[in-house]
Amino acid sequence: MKSRSAWAEPYKIKMVELLQMTTPAHRKKVIAEAGYNTFLLRSKDVYIDLLTDSGTSAMSDVQWAGMMRGDEAYAGSENFYHLEKTVQEIYGYKYLVPTHQGRGAEHLLSTILIKKGDIIPGNMYFTTTRLHQELAGGQFRDVIIDEAHDPDSDHPFKGNVDLAKLEALIRKHGPEKIPYVCIATTVNMAGGQPISLANLKEVRELTSRHGIRIIHDMTRVAENAYFIQQREPGYRRKSIARIVREICDLTDGATMSAKKDALVNIGGFLALNDWDTFEEARNLVVVYEGLHTYGGLAGRDMEAMAIGIRESVNQHHMHARVGQVEYLGHNLQAAGIPVVRPIGSHGVFLNASAFLPHLSQDAFPAQTLAAELYRDAGIRTMERGIVSAGRDPKTGAHRYPKLELVRLTIPRRVYTQAHMDVIAESVMRVYDRRHRIKGLRMVYEPKYLRFFQARFEPLG
Ligand SMILES: *Cc1c(COP(=O)(O)O)cnc(C)c1O
Repeated sequence: MKSRSAWAEPYKIKMVELLQMTTPAHRKKVIAEAGYNTFLLRSKDVYIDLLTDSGTSAMSDVQWAGMMRGDEAYAGSENFYHLEKTVQEIYGYKYLVPTHQGRGAEHLLSTILIKKGDIIPGNMYFTTTRLHQELAGGQFRDVIIDEAHDPDSDHPFKGNVDLAKLEALIRKHGPEKIPYVCIATTVNMAGGQPISLANLKEVRELTSRHGIRIIHDMTRVAENAYFIQQREPGYRRKSIARIVREICDLTDGATMSAKKDALVNIGGFLALNDWDTFEEARNLVVVYEGLHTYGGLAGRDMEAMAIGIRESVNQHHMHARVGQVEYLGHNLQAAGIPVVRPIGSHGVFLNASAFLPHLSQDAFPAQTLAAELYRDAGIRTMERGIVSAGRDPKTGAHRYPKLELVRLTIPRRVYTQAHMDVIAESVMRVYDRRHRIKGLRMVYEPKYLRFFQARFEPLG
């Protein structure tokens, strides 16, 4: 066993939120009412909520104290200037446009930079990011290394870009058709996998040669920096803050969902280094989000974000955060449960194709498994497979992703090690009866981001 002091929680608990206990009969009823979609469950029916790490973190007492210092002026709030200064200092980007969350920033950026027919390469797609690129008339192209699509590959940096794939795209379409390359830290859809600094430097070198921007999807940049510190030669002695800064300095701008790394329940921003794009974004934000000094947020939200950004780059915080996720992942691996390797930063990803090999992808194995996990012990997880991948906008056919996963996402600073053990036990119970699990069929499918609201019925 690894020494417990290696990652014991670097905080103590000041206030608690009581959990709801439910019965098997109740869970069977409500998951059917929810159309076997965990997004449609009510949270009062959930015992341990691993749906997402987005906006579900516990804020510190310092952040809560910051909330009381909210300056709710319509224009020129003090909290905006604190946030702007923090972003400049910690991340190094020059100009800041606050938005209500990450997709608000994606919307502004895609609207400004993408023209019809453009190509946007990225290290794997993200649901909202790709949709905004498509709605702006562009097309996403995956340039991540092949290992990222293989759940059993132990590559330490599965978020890396395959430079040959990127170079081939530039040669085929020409740099004028590529407004930017989107680089995510860490790569959510690959299982929370990091990109290395060595690889990012090569991407920078290649894109600079062709005059192409790098836009950083920096949602989990501190978690990515932690993996660099632990795995990449030459970074063991560098602080997370220093590595975060080195990553950001290699890019031209960023979209941020502060609901993840930055430890707040709502918030995000667009950060840019070039004045012209910033000026357009600062103008466009007033149409969709709010004035450029609040962008859809209350002053208190911006204050909590500024404090959370600083807490996110703390070594002890990140050690405990990733340590807890790895603890759960390694326990599941030891029990023979098929999980994506290496264990990612924000959750453990079950390989539903290997968990339920008797189900074809058309029977929605990951959606099925998420529903079964809920039924077993009231643990809410989510699908990251064929439902999340959606349909090809041209052909209208399902996209069949190589990864068919269930995400057990761990909120930051919320659950204890005992909860991790309860989760592992439940997954093992479902694994023991996996052969009896039947698939689902989709009976309602919304047009956009269907995984949020689609409904299913049991097959057979
Ligand atoms: C969550 C997320 C987003 C979108 O952010 P929201 O705050 O949910 O709108 C974009 N990219 C990645 C990688 C994410 O995880």
